[in-house]
Amino acid sequence: MSAAVMNGARDVEFSRVIRPVAAPHEVLIRVRANSLCGSDLHYWHEGRIGSAVVGTAFTPGHEFAGEIAGGSGAAHGLADGTLVAIDPAQPCGECYWCHQGNQHLCPTMVFVGAPPHAGAMAEYIAVPLSSVFALPPGFTAVQAALLEPLGVAMHALDLARLRPGTHLAILGAGPIGLYVLMLARQSGALNISVIEPLAYRRDRAAELGATSTHGDVAGYLASVRGTPTGGADVVIEATTSPHGPRHASEVARIGGKVILVGIPDGDEFSLTGSLVRRKALTIKLSRRMGHVYPRAIEYVQRGLVDVEAIVTHRLPLSQVRSAFALLAEYNDGAIKVVLEP
Ligand SMILES: [Zn+2]
Ligand SMILES: [Zn+2]
Repeated sequence: MSAAVMNGARDVEFSRVIRPVAAPHEVLIRVRANSLCGSDLHYWHEGRIGSAVVGTAFTPGHEFAGEIAGGSGAAHGLADGTLVAIDPAQPCGECYWCHQGNQHLCPTMVFVGAPPHAGAMAEYIAVPLSSVFALPPGFTAVQAALLEPLGVAMHALDLARLRPGTHLAILGAGPIGLYVLMLARQSGALNISVIEPLAYRRDRAAELGATSTHGDVAGYLASVRGTPTGGADVVIEATTSPHGPRHASEVARIGGKVILVGIPDGDEFSLTGSLVRRKALTIKLSRRMGHVYPRAIEYVQRGLVDVEAIVTHRLPLSQVRSAFALLAEYNDGAIKVVLEP
């Protein structure tokens, strides 16, 4: 079958690979949509995220959806042709964290599309039945694929525990930052400020309901000078910058909360000790997501969040190389790039 194959940084091609076969308790999925994620770009730029290193012939893709095309689905009410969403995380189910109900913290989880595990930028993929979510009628494959980044944003907000009236700041108006914005509007945030260096992404944030947008931290701080707290109650950091966490702590008010979601380029990030100490900040790191798929599905089904609103490009999978280059260079107003068969 055809698939995207990556052999290292800046090296991805549309190629032929062996078609997977569904093992017992697995279903075969005919992939209908993939979306490119910031984490895929780390594989593109650096060939790795920490210890997850792109080896030879690695197929990326973890934000995806498709139709059941065989395997053990029929026995569980999933007939061939049924459109499903797939959680790319496959926790072991047996470790301390899995038993605690914190499957997203499972240290031995298999993650589809993180090396060495092949992802879904292919015609077919086999996945465990336990990672498949049936969808209500009316869902598109692209909406279903975008449940994954929506879930990541939802988990970040779960950690933030927004109270009504919260002043929220979001660093980074990429897909996660924009989904945080869209969800926060439903979750009691009173002011939502978005800090983002790229003008076209600031514009999108404004269209999607940001109260204010700023090109940098200084611009935000100038806007809140003279207010009682001079900062944000909660800051969600969703950038790829190693300085993102430091910037987030500069934006937070004394006694505020910072949620770190972004994956920093180079796998290191900076914080200023005196600043975070004197502000007595609560800093939480967001890892993947809890059991949020059912809620994410309901949000989309009810039309509360238009997940496709951030999709800027749709390309055939055969143009995977162009898709990566487009997003990596921030060309042509790219925010979310989707690959279809
Ligand atoms: Zn992702
Ligand atoms: Zn586990």
